[in-house]
Amino acid sequence: MTESRRAHFPARLPGAADIAQAAVKAAPKPAAAPAARGHGLDSDAVRARMVERLRALGGMEPAALAAMQAVPRHLFIEPALAAQAYLDNALPIGHGQTISKPSVVARCASVLLQALGARPARLLEIGTGCGYQAAVLSHIAGEVYSVERIRALHELARSNLRALRLANLRLLFGDGSGGLQAGAPYDAVLSAAAADTPPDAWLAQLRPGGVLLAPIGRPQRLMAYRRHASGKVESWCVEDAHFVPLKSGLV
Ligand code: SAH
Repeated sequence: MTESRRAHFPARLPGAADIAQAAVKAAPKPAAAPAARGHGLDSDAVRARMVERLRALGGMEPAALAAMQAVPRHLFIEPALAAQAYLDNALPIGHGQTISKPSVVARCASVLLQALGARPARLLEIGTGCGYQAAVLSHIAGEVYSVERIRALHELARSNLRALRLANLRLLFGDGSGGLQAGAPYDAVLSAAAADTPPDAWLAQLRPGGVLLAPIGRPQRLMAYRRHASGKVESWCVEDAHFVPLKSGLV
Protein backbone atom coordinates (compact mmCIF):
# COMPACT_ATOMS: atom_id res chain seq x y z
CA MET A 1 0.00 0.00 0.00
CA THR A 2 1.56 3.28 -1.04
CA GLU A 3 1.27 6.60 0.70
CA SER A 4 -0.54 8.07 -2.29
CA ARG A 5 -3.28 5.45 -2.05
CA ARG A 6 -3.49 6.01 1.67
CA ALA A 7 -4.02 9.70 1.01
CA HIS A 8 -7.22 8.95 -0.90
CA PHE A 9 -8.65 6.40 1.53
CA PRO A 10 -7.49 7.21 5.06
CA ALA A 11 -10.21 5.35 6.94
CA ARG A 12 -10.80 1.94 5.43
CA LEU A 13 -8.13 0.52 3.22
CA PRO A 14 -8.84 -2.84 1.58
CA GLY A 15 -6.68 -5.62 2.95
CA ALA A 16 -4.43 -7.40 0.49
CA ALA A 17 -6.29 -10.70 1.06
CA ASP A 18 -6.24 -12.84 -2.04
CA ILE A 19 -7.36 -10.00 -4.23
CA ALA A 20 -4.87 -8.15 -6.38
CA GLN A 21 -5.59 -4.48 -6.03
CA ALA A 22 -4.85 -1.85 -8.55
CA ALA A 23 -5.70 1.77 -7.99
CA VAL A 24 -6.17 3.72 -11.16
CA LYS A 25 -3.12 5.84 -10.84
CA ALA A 26 -2.51 9.22 -12.26
CA ALA A 27 -0.76 9.21 -15.60
CA PRO A 28 -0.06 11.91 -18.12
CA LYS A 29 -3.19 12.60 -20.11
CA PRO A 30 -2.73 12.14 -23.86
CA ALA A 31 -3.63 15.14 -25.98
CA ALA A 32 -6.26 13.11 -27.85
CA ALA A 33 -7.20 9.45 -27.73
CA PRO A 34 -5.99 7.59 -30.85
CA ALA A 35 -9.36 5.86 -31.33
CA ALA A 36 -11.08 9.21 -31.44
CA ARG A 37 -9.08 10.69 -34.27
CA GLY A 38 -10.87 10.72 -37.56
CA HIS A 39 -14.18 9.60 -36.03
CA GLY A 40 -15.14 12.95 -34.57
CA LEU A 41 -15.94 11.04 -31.38
CA ASP A 42 -13.81 13.31 -29.24
CA SER A 43 -16.44 16.00 -29.65
CA ASP A 44 -18.60 16.79 -26.61
CA ALA A 45 -21.44 17.39 -29.07
CA VAL A 46 -21.57 13.70 -30.08
CA ARG A 47 -21.96 12.73 -26.45
CA ALA A 48 -24.45 15.53 -25.81
CA ARG A 49 -26.73 14.04 -28.48
CA MET A 50 -26.54 10.65 -26.76
CA VAL A 51 -27.39 12.32 -23.44
CA GLU A 52 -30.41 14.03 -24.99
CA ARG A 53 -31.67 10.65 -26.22
CA LEU A 54 -31.19 9.23 -22.72
CA ARG A 55 -33.04 12.18 -21.16
CA ALA A 56 -35.94 11.60 -23.56
CA LEU A 57 -36.37 8.06 -22.13
CA GLY A 58 -37.61 9.70 -18.92
CA GLY A 59 -36.80 9.12 -15.27
CA MET A 60 -33.08 9.83 -15.57
CA GLU A 61 -31.34 11.77 -12.78
CA PRO A 62 -29.50 14.96 -13.81
CA ALA A 63 -26.35 13.75 -12.02
CA ALA A 64 -26.45 10.46 -13.94
CA LEU A 65 -26.84 12.31 -17.25
CA ALA A 66 -23.95 14.62 -16.33
CA ALA A 67 -21.81 11.54 -15.65
CA MET A 68 -22.77 10.08 -19.04
CA GLN A 69 -21.71 13.36 -20.64
CA ALA A 70 -18.41 13.32 -18.78
CA VAL A 71 -17.17 9.84 -19.73
CA PRO A 72 -15.89 9.29 -23.31
CA ARG A 73 -17.42 5.86 -24.10
CA HIS A 74 -15.48 5.53 -27.36
CA LEU A 75 -12.27 5.11 -25.34
CA PHE A 76 -13.62 1.83 -23.91
CA ILE A 77 -14.41 0.25 -27.26
CA GLU A 78 -12.03 -1.26 -29.79
CA PRO A 79 -11.31 1.12 -32.69
CA ALA A 80 -13.21 -0.99 -35.26
CA LEU A 81 -16.43 -0.51 -33.27
CA ALA A 82 -15.77 3.03 -32.04
CA ALA A 83 -18.17 4.57 -34.55
CA GLN A 84 -20.99 2.81 -32.66
CA ALA A 85 -19.87 4.12 -29.28
CA TYR A 86 -22.71 6.61 -28.86
CA LEU A 87 -25.52 4.43 -30.14
CA ASP A 88 -27.57 2.60 -27.53
CA ASN A 89 -25.80 -0.72 -28.09
CA ALA A 90 -24.12 -3.36 -25.98
CA LEU A 91 -20.84 -4.10 -27.81
CA PRO A 92 -18.33 -6.96 -27.47
CA ILE A 93 -15.26 -6.31 -25.31
CA GLY A 94 -13.70 -9.78 -25.69
CA HIS A 95 -13.82 -12.92 -23.53
CA GLY A 96 -17.52 -13.34 -24.34
CA GLN A 97 -18.42 -10.17 -22.41
CA THR A 98 -20.03 -6.89 -23.44
CA ILE A 99 -19.97 -3.22 -22.51
CA SER A 100 -23.42 -2.30 -21.15
CA LYS A 101 -25.79 -0.14 -23.21
CA PRO A 102 -25.67 3.57 -22.31
CA SER A 103 -29.37 3.48 -21.41
CA VAL A 104 -28.74 0.65 -18.94
CA VAL A 105 -25.79 2.43 -17.32
CA ALA A 106 -27.77 5.67 -17.04
CA ARG A 107 -30.83 3.82 -15.68
CA CYS A 108 -28.79 1.97 -13.02
CA ALA A 109 -27.07 5.16 -11.88
CA SER A 110 -30.42 6.99 -11.78
CA VAL A 111 -32.18 4.24 -9.82
CA LEU A 112 -29.41 4.18 -7.23
CA LEU A 113 -29.47 7.97 -6.82
CA GLN A 114 -33.26 7.98 -6.52
CA ALA A 115 -33.39 5.05 -4.09
CA LEU A 116 -30.70 6.52 -1.84
CA GLY A 117 -31.90 10.12 -2.13
CA ALA A 118 -28.26 11.21 -2.22
CA ARG A 119 -24.92 10.41 -3.83
CA PRO A 120 -23.62 7.06 -2.53
CA ALA A 121 -20.53 7.69 -0.42
CA ARG A 122 -19.20 4.20 -1.11
CA LEU A 123 -20.26 1.97 -3.98
CA LEU A 124 -19.28 -1.54 -5.10
CA GLU A 125 -19.61 -2.61 -8.75
CA ILE A 126 -19.55 -6.34 -9.55
CA GLY A 127 -18.19 -6.89 -13.07
CA THR A 128 -15.80 -4.16 -14.21
CA GLY A 129 -15.62 -5.41 -17.79
CA CYS A 130 -13.89 -2.70 -19.82
CA GLY A 131 -14.35 -0.17 -17.01
CA TYR A 132 -16.92 2.11 -18.65
CA GLN A 133 -19.66 1.88 -16.04
CA ALA A 134 -17.07 2.14 -13.27
CA ALA A 135 -15.97 5.46 -14.75
CA VAL A 136 -19.56 6.72 -14.90
CA LEU A 137 -20.17 5.61 -11.32
CA SER A 138 -17.04 7.42 -10.14
CA HIS A 139 -18.82 10.67 -11.12
CA ILE A 140 -21.89 9.97 -8.98
CA ALA A 141 -20.29 8.33 -5.93
CA GLY A 142 -17.70 9.30 -3.33
CA GLU A 143 -15.63 6.11 -3.66
CA VAL A 144 -16.09 3.28 -6.13
CA TYR A 145 -14.74 -0.26 -5.84
CA SER A 146 -15.11 -2.43 -8.93
CA VAL A 147 -14.26 -6.13 -9.07
CA GLU A 148 -13.73 -8.32 -12.15
CA ARG A 149 -13.07 -12.09 -12.33
CA ILE A 150 -11.40 -12.17 -15.79
CA ARG A 151 -7.83 -10.96 -15.40
CA ALA A 152 -7.51 -9.82 -19.02
CA LEU A 153 -10.57 -7.56 -18.62
CA HIS A 154 -9.34 -6.25 -15.28
CA GLU A 155 -6.10 -5.29 -17.07
CA LEU A 156 -8.03 -3.81 -20.02
CA ALA A 157 -10.08 -1.66 -17.64
CA ARG A 158 -6.92 -0.46 -15.89
CA SER A 159 -5.46 0.55 -19.21
CA ASN A 160 -8.69 2.21 -20.44
CA LEU A 161 -9.10 4.17 -17.22
CA ARG A 162 -5.53 5.30 -16.65
CA ALA A 163 -5.81 8.46 -18.73
CA LEU A 164 -9.09 9.50 -17.05
CA ARG A 165 -7.30 9.87 -13.70
CA LEU A 166 -10.25 8.93 -11.50
CA ALA A 167 -8.68 9.02 -8.05
CA ASN A 168 -11.84 7.75 -6.29
CA LEU A 169 -12.00 4.50 -8.30
CA ARG A 170 -10.42 1.20 -7.20
CA LEU A 171 -10.22 -1.75 -9.58
CA LEU A 172 -9.81 -5.20 -8.09
CA PHE A 173 -9.21 -8.60 -9.63
CA GLY A 174 -11.37 -11.13 -7.83
CA ASP A 175 -14.58 -13.14 -7.72
CA GLY A 176 -17.31 -10.69 -6.77
CA SER A 177 -19.87 -13.41 -5.97
CA GLY A 178 -18.92 -12.85 -2.33
CA GLY A 179 -18.94 -9.06 -2.70
CA LEU A 180 -15.82 -7.32 -1.45
CA GLN A 181 -15.51 -7.34 2.33
CA ALA A 182 -12.52 -5.00 2.26
CA GLY A 183 -14.59 -1.94 1.32
CA ALA A 184 -17.79 -2.81 3.21
CA PRO A 185 -20.21 -1.49 4.29
CA TYR A 186 -21.42 0.06 1.02
CA ASP A 187 -24.22 2.54 0.40
CA ALA A 188 -24.82 0.74 -2.88
CA VAL A 189 -23.86 -2.49 -4.63
CA LEU A 190 -24.46 -2.67 -8.39
CA SER A 191 -23.99 -5.88 -10.33
CA ALA A 192 -23.35 -5.92 -14.09
CA ALA A 193 -23.75 -9.73 -14.12
CA ALA A 194 -26.96 -11.70 -13.55
CA ALA A 195 -27.51 -14.17 -10.71
CA ASP A 196 -30.43 -16.55 -10.08
CA THR A 197 -30.86 -15.09 -6.60
CA PRO A 198 -28.99 -12.21 -4.94
CA PRO A 199 -25.89 -13.55 -3.17
CA ASP A 200 -26.21 -13.11 0.62
CA ALA A 201 -22.87 -11.27 0.76
CA TRP A 202 -24.10 -8.46 -1.49
CA LEU A 203 -26.93 -7.72 0.95
CA ALA A 204 -24.80 -8.33 4.04
CA GLN A 205 -22.21 -5.80 2.85
CA LEU A 206 -24.78 -2.98 2.55
CA ARG A 207 -25.02 -0.39 5.30
CA PRO A 208 -28.49 -0.12 6.86
CA GLY A 209 -30.60 1.73 4.30
CA GLY A 210 -28.19 0.75 1.52
CA VAL A 211 -29.39 -0.46 -1.87
CA LEU A 212 -28.41 -3.42 -4.06
CA LEU A 213 -29.26 -3.22 -7.77
CA ALA A 214 -28.75 -6.41 -9.76
CA PRO A 215 -30.16 -8.45 -12.66
CA ILE A 216 -31.81 -11.47 -11.06
CA GLY A 217 -33.68 -14.61 -12.13
CA ARG A 218 -34.75 -16.24 -15.42
CA PRO A 219 -36.13 -14.39 -17.24
CA GLN A 220 -33.95 -11.65 -15.85
CA ARG A 221 -35.33 -8.63 -14.05
CA LEU A 222 -33.31 -5.67 -12.84
CA MET A 223 -34.13 -5.87 -9.12
CA ALA A 224 -33.52 -3.36 -6.33
CA TYR A 225 -33.16 -4.40 -2.68
CA ARG A 226 -33.02 -2.10 0.31
CA ARG A 227 -31.56 -3.44 3.53
CA HIS A 228 -33.29 -1.89 6.54
CA ALA A 229 -31.68 -1.41 9.96
CA SER A 230 -34.01 -4.13 11.32
CA GLY A 231 -32.40 -6.58 8.91
CA LYS A 232 -35.56 -6.70 6.79
CA VAL A 233 -34.95 -6.54 3.04
CA GLU A 234 -37.44 -4.74 0.80
CA SER A 235 -37.30 -5.41 -2.94
CA TRP A 236 -38.84 -4.05 -6.12
CA CYS A 237 -38.53 -4.69 -9.83
CA VAL A 238 -37.08 -1.88 -11.97
CA GLU A 239 -37.41 -3.37 -15.47
CA ASP A 240 -36.65 -6.40 -17.65
CA ALA A 241 -32.94 -7.06 -18.05
CA HIS A 242 -30.47 -8.79 -20.38
CA PHE A 243 -27.09 -9.06 -18.66
CA VAL A 244 -24.26 -11.61 -18.97
CA PRO A 245 -24.34 -14.28 -16.24
CA LEU A 246 -22.52 -14.04 -12.92
CA LYS A 247 -19.86 -16.76 -12.85
CA SER A 248 -17.65 -17.97 -10.04
CA GLY A 249 -13.91 -18.43 -9.85
CA LEU A 250 -11.09 -16.51 -11.49
CA VAL A 251 -10.01 -16.68 -15.12
N1 SAH B 1 -19.52 -2.90 -16.18
C1 SAH B 1 -19.29 -3.27 -17.56
C2 SAH B 1 -20.12 -4.45 -17.97
C3 SAH B 1 -19.30 -5.68 -18.05
S1 SAH B 1 -20.22 -7.15 -18.44
C4 SAH B 1 -19.50 -2.06 -18.45
O1 SAH B 1 -19.04 -1.01 -18.13
O2 SAH B 1 -20.08 -2.14 -19.50
C5 SAH B 1 -20.24 -7.95 -16.86
C6 SAH B 1 -18.91 -8.34 -16.31
O3 SAH B 1 -19.14 -9.11 -15.13
C7 SAH B 1 -18.06 -9.23 -17.21
O4 SAH B 1 -16.83 -8.60 -17.47
C8 SAH B 1 -17.85 -10.50 -16.38
O5 SAH B 1 -16.58 -11.10 -16.54
C9 SAH B 1 -18.04 -9.98 -14.97
N2 SAH B 1 -18.36 -11.01 -13.98
C10 SAH B 1 -19.16 -12.10 -14.09
N3 SAH B 1 -19.16 -12.79 -12.94
C11 SAH B 1 -18.33 -12.14 -12.08
C12 SAH B 1 -17.90 -12.36 -10.74
N4 SAH B 1 -18.30 -13.43 -10.03
N5 SAH B 1 -17.06 -11.49 -10.18
C13 SAH B 1 -16.62 -10.40 -10.86
N6 SAH B 1 -16.97 -10.13 -12.13
C14 SAH B 1 -17.83 -10.99 -12.73
